[in-house]
Amino acid sequence: MKLTILGSGTSHGVPVVGCDCPVCHSEDPRNKRMRASLYIEGARGEKAIIDTGPEFRLQAIRAGIKKLDGIFLTHAHADHVHGLDDVRPLSRETPLPVYGNDETISEMKERFSYVFKETQRGGGKPRVIPTVAFEPVVLGELTFTPIPVKHGMLNILGWKIEEKTMDIMAVTAGAAVYLTDTSEIPAASRKIIGKPAILIIGALRIRPHETHFSFTQALNAALEIGAEKVWLTHICHDLLHGEIIEYCRNFMKERSLTGISAEPSFDGLEIIL
Ligand SMILES: [Zn+2]
Ligand SMILES: [Zn+2]
Ligand SMILES: [Zn+2]
Repeated sequence: MKLTILGSGTSHGVPVVGCDCPVCHSEDPRNKRMRASLYIEGARGEKAIIDTGPEFRLQAIRAGIKKLDGIFLTHAHADHVHGLDDVRPLSRETPLPVYGNDETISEMKERFSYVFKETQRGGGKPRVIPTVAFEPVVLGELTFTPIPVKHGMLNILGWKIEEKTMDIMAVTAGAAVYLTDTSEIPAASRKIIGKPAILIIGALRIRPHETHFSFTQALNAALEIGAEKVWLTHICHDLLHGEIIEYCRNFMKERSLTGISAEPSFDGLEIIL
């Protein structure tokens, strides 16, 4: 499968409106962080997305998204769902299932109430099927397993993505795990996560935050999980891309960890698994 980071930025995006800091003024495209989202393409043509933030339209155009088989939500904060209306052109032929936990799906229905009202008929509405995901969701040969995590007080979902391999000797190829906006991973969820090949994890900044992992907290969680390759996402505007690379390198050096690779992700990054 192929994973594309559509956005690697925190809730306000980078550059931040009205900000004069060096990161917000950087010309380096890796310092332009749209709201966090992941595009997943299976080897047999399955296409899915995790979260539809306010830049979904721009991200979909940039990544050349022509169809979706499913939308997976982590939670209903504005930076993760407010682009949902823009899936309209992709839901014309077939309505799109939108998966999330109970809280997310009910909040999404409230937020986009016009979509579910009979009063607005005809076009102008995305055709979506809100679905509470209690169990793994199968799309073709891809399996999306919900991972309950804490985002401050909120109960949100991370997603584990696995693809059946063409190799009949192996059951699945390595898994990818996407955990954004996380401040705590409950013990039961660690079991679901296992030891993925790829871990994409939210890491806001150096300073601690009530509802998000800091860089150090995210890297410590990643070490505990033991992922082969770690990509940070949902990043704010405190540091340049190169400075975060340096931060990750020093973190590993101080702990004498050589075999583990952790780096900040960036918009447009493609990960082949
Ligand atoms: Zn967020
Ligand atoms: Zn700034
Ligand atoms: Zn959030």
